[in-house]
Amino acid sequence: MHTADFQRLRTNLQEKKVELIAVSKFKSPVQILDVYAQGQRIFAENKVQDLLPKYEYLPKDIQWHMIGHLQKNKVKYIVPFVAMIQSVDSFALLLEIEKKAAKAQRVIDFLFQMYIAKEETKYGLDEEELLAILDNPDFKRLRHVRPRGVMGMATQTDDRKVVREEFRALKKIFTRVKERYFSTDALFKEISMGMSGDYEIAIAEGSTMVRLGTVIFGERPGRVFTIGEL
Ligand SMILES: *Cc1c(COP(=O)(O)O)cnc(C)c1O
Repeated sequence: MHTADFQRLRTNLQEKKVELIAVSKFKSPVQILDVYAQGQRIFAENKVQDLLPKYEYLPKDIQWHMIGHLQKNKVKYIVPFVAMIQSVDSFALLLEIEKKAAKAQRVIDFLFQMYIAKEETKYGLDEEELLAILDNPDFKRLRHVRPRGVMGMATQTDDRKVVREEFRALKKIFTRVKERYFSTDALFKEISMGMSGDYEIAIAEGSTMVRLGTVIFGERPGRVFTIGEL
């Protein structure tokens, strides 16, 4: 994306009070630094093994978000530095983050990843599973994780009506949960929805965070980033 277009996008999102998360998966450090130089500070990766070397070699004022499925045995690697984990999809995972965050003396912001799409392969909780976590007495005892809201991915389809309905459903889940469990918690306010193909719909339906890769960096090159590129 050209500088002028990128700045227009940023200004546009700022006016709507929507946070821009630059999804840098598959992108080289050089490409990331180019976007960093234009003022972007929040970047996201979906794999721990890509996040680690990028964290290590790129500027330390980058806020890294984890947006991909996270295995419990990899939590320990990202807890020392990660700014937000958007992909909490089980209570077991949350307990592991709590444990490792306590050890690292950190409090980790996180989102509950909700399953809203009509696709079999996507990770995420349904509303019932989310309520079960929130009703679990152990949930209230967590001191090193901080619930900030929900995240969801719509079905990959050209049918904008389907996408809109899914985002609307996520917003409704958020609102119900907010009223019932977090009405006095000002920090529980994020609805992370919207990717390159559907972020305008997401914003119209109440998104507070869009996760954009392709529109910022261009098409995915179809190859995996390696440490060698550093
Ligand atoms: C890759 C990815 C994105 C960004 O997708 P684009 O279509 O490139 O904008 C957003 N969210 C998640 C969870 C992703 O894995």
